[in-house]
Amino acid sequence: MSDRRHTEQVNPLLQQSPLPYGVPRFDQIRSEDFRAAFDEGMREELADVDCIAGDTAPPTFVNTLEALEQCGALLRRTQRVFHVLLSAHSDEALQKIDAEYSPKLVAHRDAITLNPRLYARVKSLYDRGDSLGLDTEQRQLLEERYRNHVRAGAALSSPEQDTVRANNVARANVVAELRRRILAEVNAAAIVVDERDHLDGLPETDIAAAAAAANARGSAGKWLLPLQNTTQQPALGYLRNRAMRERVFKASVSRNTSGENDTTALVLQMVRLRAERARLLGFSDHAAYTLDDTMAKSAENALGLLRRMVPATVTRTKEEASRLHVRLRMDVPDATLEPWDWQYYAEQVRRADYALDESEVRQYFELDRVLRDGVFYAATQLYGITFGERHDIPVYHPDVRVFEVFNADGSRLGLLYLDYFARPSKRGGAWMNQLAMQSGLLSMLPVVTNIANFPKPSPGDPALLTSDQVRTMFHEFGHALHGLFSSVRYPSLSGTSVPRDFVELPSQFNEHWAEESSVFGRYARHHQTGEPMPASLKERLDRAAKFNGGYALAEMLAACFLDMDWHMLPAIQVPQQVDTFEDSSLKTHGLEIREVPPRYRTRYFQHIWTLAYAAGYYSYLWSEVLDADAYAWFKENGGMTRQNGQRLRDLVLSRGGTKDAAALYREFRGRDATPDALLEERGLQY
Ligand SMILES: [Zn+2]
Repeated sequence: MSDRRHTEQVNPLLQQSPLPYGVPRFDQIRSEDFRAAFDEGMREELADVDCIAGDTAPPTFVNTLEALEQCGALLRRTQRVFHVLLSAHSDEALQKIDAEYSPKLVAHRDAITLNPRLYARVKSLYDRGDSLGLDTEQRQLLEERYRNHVRAGAALSSPEQDTVRANNVARANVVAELRRRILAEVNAAAIVVDERDHLDGLPETDIAAAAAAANARGSAGKWLLPLQNTTQQPALGYLRNRAMRERVFKASVSRNTSGENDTTALVLQMVRLRAERARLLGFSDHAAYTLDDTMAKSAENALGLLRRMVPATVTRTKEEASRLHVRLRMDVPDATLEPWDWQYYAEQVRRADYALDESEVRQYFELDRVLRDGVFYAATQLYGITFGERHDIPVYHPDVRVFEVFNADGSRLGLLYLDYFARPSKRGGAWMNQLAMQSGLLSMLPVVTNIANFPKPSPGDPALLTSDQVRTMFHEFGHALHGLFSSVRYPSLSGTSVPRDFVELPSQFNEHWAEESSVFGRYARHHQTGEPMPASLKERLDRAAKFNGGYALAEMLAACFLDMDWHMLPAIQVPQQVDTFEDSSLKTHGLEIREVPPRYRTRYFQHIWTLAYAAGYYSYLWSEVLDADAYAWFKENGGMTRQNGQRLRDLVLSRGGTKDAAALYREFRGRDATPDALLEERGLQY
């Protein structure tokens, strides 16, 4: 219990918390405390960095790299608490602070990575790397640090650094304008429908929503079909009227091609700017720059893996197409299957073949049971860890629950905050945060969160989940394990501090245990009767999960190739045309399938222009290849045993970023990953 009048003078962020695990004093922190903590945190870190950079003693690993790991504690702590609150329980005050401090924090990072004296010390150590007698983790830390400096431009001359800075500003402006035009076009391209019977087939709730949307735009008595960012649109699964489907599809696929929201010139300018910056920083192209610090390491490796999935995908897609074609001709004799027919006939086939009723499925997924008898149970079976709820730790919202996690021998492993229910102060989606990173050097144990947006039941009602939400729980918990199992020395290399194309391995891998029959049989029980899910329902669930797998993978692969092709161009080879480039990319990769357009076409491919997935869209499929391949190892080696779990924990989950991700994986698997297991899981292997 705190008495605010007496604590008014004290900013709880400014001092190390006296609570267990040093957890934040969520019962005392006020939004306005963050300004002082950010200011003081930046001041303190810069002063420490200046000391390290200005040290008159010759650089050593300890007085430079290890010293850097020890500074900035206040700022790091503040940023972690801030991000948890900003994403999970935000208000206007926090958003204002975010807008005010985001650019300041970027400048703060630059001031450190571009500090010439600091860079000189790191470089001198890097150049003498082999003679320093470092262990693997130290070596990795040195390489990481050095790479961060170089990638920011620290190795360039001062005029070159100015060019990079100007390029950064120019790109930021193009990003902002692209973001604006893509969003404006999604809204502008929404379809206005004059007659209700054109919407035949659409669920009543969607028709009502379309009427309300039209009304809100001043078109009372009409219907407005909004677009979502992907090429295919949800309404296309339902609209019976073929001309209407064609209209919706064409509106979607021709977005941003002309008029005031045309993005052609901006996209080409962005490709050029990225290529120019990459060249300045010493890379052949933007893909080479981006992939340099990933697991894949080069575009060629990433593409190689994707290419191996193309033949099976194309074969399956053609089978799916002919099945849908037959169905289409029952309605329209002599018709040819068009991209706007695909979702509609797929939905017809799906309904006829699987007859899945999600509300029936939900009766078997009660949140607390899924957590204890599913998520926690699987972790105990595999890793021997146990969980005890704590009610004495302050939380930022009454829905948050805190669990202490213990090793098999009873020793403390870390703390887990679970915050599952949606509320207006939370952003959409599900994610994991780290409130504290494990570190041997700083004697810190991990504190992690899992946050989601499951609908909150009325008081007294059970929280029932969909199968997707169950999967999400296992997924986020996999990230939590990656943070909790971390057993490293340096905080920069701790837990989930791994490349983007590796970070989803632990989470996607953990999803597999939701399907394991010994686990599923425990948690999937009727919330009233306790009866297990009937086998026939489970079987329909499993088959439905593989449905339309060829299409899903083909549109994804096409987008991955498109992304990579744009970013492998040197600045002088950037074309004037978007469409011809796009066509030739699809053709080159064998994915020129008329009925299957890419998941995003170039002009509205937000992920690669505004969302930091440039030359990185492949990582979705890359991690899926890894997790399926890792799970296959379990199947080949006796399945869900303590021994197998321990092996994964020792060789992968505890290692954070202390070793090259590809080498880590190879150590666990005994070889590099192959896409075979993924193709089988998606029902594409013959
Ligand atoms: Zn994830």
